[in-house]
Amino acid sequence: MVSRRNKEQQKTNSISDYRSDFPILTREVYGQPLVYFDNGATTQKPRCVLETIQRFYNEINANIHRGVHKLSDESTLEYENAREVVRGFLNARKSSEIIFTSGATASLNLVAFSFGEVFVSQGDEVLVTEMEHHSNIVPWQLLCERKGAKLKVLPFDENGELILDELPKLLTPKTRIVAVTHVSNTLGTVNPIAEIVRIAHSQNVPVLVDGAQGVKHGIVDVQQLDVDFYAFSGHKIYGPTGIGVLYGKEEWLDRMVPWQSGGDMIATVTFAKTTFNELPFKFEAGTANYIGAVGLVTALTYYSRIGIEAATSYEGELLQYAIERLSEIDGLTIYGNAREKAAIISFLLKDIHPYDTGMVLDKMGIAVRTGNHCTQPVIDHFGIDGTVRASLAFYNTFEEIDRLYDALVKIKAMFG
Ligand code: PMP
Repeated sequence: MVSRRNKEQQKTNSISDYRSDFPILTREVYGQPLVYFDNGATTQKPRCVLETIQRFYNEINANIHRGVHKLSDESTLEYENAREVVRGFLNARKSSEIIFTSGATASLNLVAFSFGEVFVSQGDEVLVTEMEHHSNIVPWQLLCERKGAKLKVLPFDENGELILDELPKLLTPKTRIVAVTHVSNTLGTVNPIAEIVRIAHSQNVPVLVDGAQGVKHGIVDVQQLDVDFYAFSGHKIYGPTGIGVLYGKEEWLDRMVPWQSGGDMIATVTFAKTTFNELPFKFEAGTANYIGAVGLVTALTYYSRIGIEAATSYEGELLQYAIERLSEIDGLTIYGNAREKAAIISFLLKDIHPYDTGMVLDKMGIAVRTGNHCTQPVIDHFGIDGTVRASLAFYNTFEEIDRLYDALVKIKAMFG
């Protein structure tokens, strides 16, 4: 086993030095320095994001696309510039393929409705995977109920890896779409998206990727992956809440119907008929979260500057260390041992309910998540009540993992 000290010396670089950019990380919880291990639920925000939001409200704020005045002009410019930055971040072909939503859930619902209305009919099939978040199951389930279509499920194995051999067998001439998560928020599994896309496209089936966890795990190039849709939330990649993105290939978006209606998404309105605006506005009804969009791209720019690959690689070292340390604890089981794994570690202490573990960790200043993590089928797969989940970010440290280890040893003794 690598000792703590050696491990500290191995600490590759200064990635976690960026920690000081995050004001909240200096706070204490119950008299202890906060250890924030709930990054899968939401990440903390760097100072530059907070300052951008404040600057926007202080100096620019005006509704976009509508005003003839200077402030509205500036606001619109910043919003549309944000779209262009997201386009570059995902390497989409056109900025009109970037739709701002309120988050990953909204993006997934958008596709389930707008794609589903046009392309899914009675008797058709929609394929999801067993490791999806509820946000990438329920919208499809509702669509299937509405249309009389069938929801099919690609299973995962005991390591938490999708059984890819099953994929070609599950695809039929009736399959209309495959909806799959990039990274499992419970198991940490990084799915082989390019391979899944290749198999699905060979049967002319488009692929929607839920990138809520995946977008922060390495560089995402939607053209290289050749995905048809990619959805993510700003708040899970160091940006503000209430803003998200849907990338969609123009060839699909053009043929899809609007999912929400109202201002901005129209071209003309009469009582006889409404015609719709061009992409991407067709899918952005009402006042957009333009300040959220600007906050999001500040976060994306910040994260890119740190270096996404460097951050991910450091998180990988943290994960490895966490696995080593936690595995030393007798009676601790880790769920999800995929070969490609993001820095998410789900575990249980034998005979101790996950809520009890989570509550006591909280009292020790360590924030983790407990329960089914909105992935009830994953929890059912293992026949358990839930897990304790520690999800890491680049601002976490090896010392914090030692604190988790020490706390778990105490909890085990306490309940033992
Ligand atoms: N998919 C995955 C894999 C997630 O982890 C989450 C958030 N836990 C979502 C979708 C939903 O994201 P949001 O709540 O930001 O819409």
